[in-house]
Amino acid sequence: MLAYLNIPRSQLNDTYIRTEVAPYATGLGGVNEAGNHSFRLADWLWLGLLAVIVLIIRLLERANRHQRHMTAMNLSADQQRFWKQNKSILWWIKKHITYAPIGKTRHNREFKLSSAVNMGTLPSRLHAAILLSWVLINIIACVYLEYSGPNPYRMAAELRGRSGYLALMNVVPLVLLAGRNNPLISWLQISFDTYNLIHRWLGRVVTIEAVVHTCAWAYVKLAETSWEGIRHMIATDAFIGYGTLGTVCLLLIAVLSLSPLRHAFYETFLNIHITLASLTIVAIFVHIKLAGLLELSLTMLALIVIWSYDRFMRLFKLIMLNRKGNKWTIATITALPGEASRVTLHLPRYVKIHCGTHAYLRFAGLNVWESHPFSIAWTMDHLAYFPKHEMDTENGEGRIDFSKSTTDVDFVVHAQTGITRRLYNKAKASGGTVTVRAAIEGPYAGHHSLSSYGHAILFAGSSGISHQLPFVQCLLKGYVDGTVATRKVTLIWIIRHSEHLEWVRPYMEQILPMKRRKELLTIKIYVTRPRNAADMHSASRTVQMFPGRPDVEILVKEEVAAQVGAMCVTVCGPGTLADGVRKAVRQNQETGTIDFIEESFTW
Ligand SMILES: Cc1cc2nc3c(=O)[nH]c(=O)nc-3n(C[C@H](O)[C@H](O)[C@H](O)COP(=O)(O)OP(=O)(O)OC[C@H]3O[C@@H](n4cnc5c(N)ncnc54)[C@H](O)[C@@H]3O)c2cc1C
Repeated sequence: MLAYLNIPRSQLNDTYIRTEVAPYATGLGGVNEAGNHSFRLADWLWLGLLAVIVLIIRLLERANRHQRHMTAMNLSADQQRFWKQNKSILWWIKKHITYAPIGKTRHNREFKLSSAVNMGTLPSRLHAAILLSWVLINIIACVYLEYSGPNPYRMAAELRGRSGYLALMNVVPLVLLAGRNNPLISWLQISFDTYNLIHRWLGRVVTIEAVVHTCAWAYVKLAETSWEGIRHMIATDAFIGYGTLGTVCLLLIAVLSLSPLRHAFYETFLNIHITLASLTIVAIFVHIKLAGLLELSLTMLALIVIWSYDRFMRLFKLIMLNRKGNKWTIATITALPGEASRVTLHLPRYVKIHCGTHAYLRFAGLNVWESHPFSIAWTMDHLAYFPKHEMDTENGEGRIDFSKSTTDVDFVVHAQTGITRRLYNKAKASGGTVTVRAAIEGPYAGHHSLSSYGHAILFAGSSGISHQLPFVQCLLKGYVDGTVATRKVTLIWIIRHSEHLEWVRPYMEQILPMKRRKELLTIKIYVTRPRNAADMHSASRTVQMFPGRPDVEILVKEEVAAQVGAMCVTVCGPGTLADGVRKAVRQNQETGTIDFIEESFTW
């Protein structure tokens, strides 16, 4: 048998080719359909099982949080001791699995070859385990073949069938998990970032399987005909032509998705990626339709319908959110000290926005095809009221007319090198403020609530403050209204220069005078490169400024020593800060209930 593997076609005898090679050159000859179905089941069951396990864990967490919220809401800080204590081995799982990076510390700190060449980040320990288990299932499926027969071409046909089938099955989650509107984000409370990570790994495996599928076909075809025969089939046979097109598109996508290329030319990458992905899906659909595989064709068709629906709905929602009659969203961009801009979007309608959400923005006249994500720092509703009715109470202002109300949404945007810098430059060149037409897509995420925690520590690095401010506002309001369990909030903000304080001045002017603010909120600001010692002025015991970088481990330890009820530590900022806070939280897991939430600006 082995002798035939390397023999040129000219030396294989015609009878062998007719009886032992040709039957396995195309179609279902040699394909183990029963085996393919079993592995499809294993592949999907594994992904489904993981989703169900996460869903059950999330539901249990929600139930626990709800119970804690309902009971602790009415308790003072001292009475929340029950919720402070660890009651199971959950702390061990959080420390060593769910919150753990692969190694000791590094998770979200990017690998950079230079300031321009970004190699991406490392997955967490849990993510790595999940991805590894799924990759293993795919490897096992591809090598679990019938090896006993004497004919290598039959084995190649079986490998072609298996790899092609698996690639198809994996294309389904590959496409579904990539969407911004993927409903699993809120159901499983897993961030878009994590689905993106899974999407990238699914993509790599699908590409390898498609290449194996094509090579296994070419190996048999070469023995049956010649290189010329292969070329001829690709050019003239629609079934083979579309299959090859699908594989070539996937290979191109894989090369263009390499981290340095993706990060360096993100928008160009994204547009080419979507075009190539659409082409791949259509090519695969035609390929399997021509093969007469009805069930698989229907699966692909369903995928095309869902994907098109998602794109259509995104466009529909974008127009609905940003247009009302002849009014369109307008953005006021204000240049701030420290190379940042405040972007205020004046929406033509009222929108309810939750804490911890972000939205994608695009601006007319500034590469309108680019849309960038930014955390929503502040919202201001302009409420309209129905005319006073005789049924309204004496003091009431009447009912709110949401159809005539509008919302303003604020973002703090730090100037990088692309559109964020052009925004800043445009505002600066126009005397500090400029107005342009804009569009907002979202809001997205916002599925974390801190209301059930007795104690919250919010870390922010630079523009990461925009993610934390709405939580401060919500918790303060909830504290005064008696609707949250939170009795202690510490906001730690790390900035480079004290002029960055201007970024949040209008919001702090509203937060600081809030009723009972001093009972709940302590603000610690660390200025890593102060220009002037006089700037380091602590306004009061509850608003303090320090020069230099904070020692995150000591800060967390101090807070843990004075922990009130269950604690939540959240961080939004550069990868180094996030990794440091993660480490500090893991170090204190034995001490009490401490949860960790990270909002990442990396992707
Ligand atoms: C959920 C989320 C919330 C964010 N919130 C804020 C915020 O409140 N304030 C703030 O200043 N920044 C925020 N960012 C980061 C911000 O989106 C990027 O800095 C911005 O897109 C860079 O644009 P640029 O053209 O100037 O980038 P460049 O200078 O060209 O690149 C700078 C970095 O941004 C990356 N980048 C470029 N385009 C995109 C894109 N469309 N999406 C994501 N990253 C991109 C680049 O790969 C590079 O790593 C957030 C990011 C995410 C993912």
